[in-house]
Amino acid sequence: MSKQLIVALSKGRILDETLPLLADAGVEPLEDLGKSRKLLFDTNLPDVKLVVIRATDVPTYVQLGAADLGVAGKDVLLEHGAEGLYEPLDLEIARCKLMTAGVRGAEPALARRRVATKFVNIARRWYAQQGIQAEVIKLYGAMELAPLMNLADEIVDIVDTGNTLRANGMEPGELIASISTRLVVNKAAMTMKHARIKPLLERLEQAVAARREGVAG
Ligand code: AMP
Repeated sequence: MSKQLIVALSKGRILDETLPLLADAGVEPLEDLGKSRKLLFDTNLPDVKLVVIRATDVPTYVQLGAADLGVAGKDVLLEHGAEGLYEPLDLEIARCKLMTAGVRGAEPALARRRVATKFVNIARRWYAQQGIQAEVIKLYGAMELAPLMNLADEIVDIVDTGNTLRANGMEPGELIASISTRLVVNKAAMTMKHARIKPLLERLEQAVAARREGVAG
């Protein structure tokens, strides 16, 4: 196993909130991630590299050991499954809720409900737990459109302010899970590279705690 630490970061919204936290923990990319088309970046620490990939690919990279650590939303981790991964730290950023949602004022369908979502595993599990018969339809985006177009009775999606739902004549239903961004670690790397990973974990923990106190105080 190489001595380098590869950290897989989720592109997009999470990245903007992850970088300041990493900087507080002493890890800074040598170039501006937002301005570059590169995917693999050196940092101020010679043995730490960053890869910037799609959020849904982060658990795969870390699980298979292509990256030692990863930063991913709990939604992505719940959907992917946690095999081969430790989840030692809640980074407490990009908080949102995974919810069901339907057309405002509409009664839930009584018989088999059609549910559009990109979180098919989470949705199947949740409706089964509720004892609701559901036909889960996989979509890759614009979930809010599905009930309006009669493709589905309801959706399972991420809700932050609720503005997207409101703008499309929908309302939130049940809370499935509260979501935040998590640090994940490859199980083998946690053992083999423990001496290198532990101090990084500790500094990240301190950075998260400092944020929390800053917000509270
Ligand atoms: P909102 O209109 O504020 O409820 O935001 C809802 C949309 O923003 C959803 O459709 C999500 O795709 C996206 N979104 C909001 N928060 C997050 C987050 N923490 N992680 C990923 N996507 C998010």
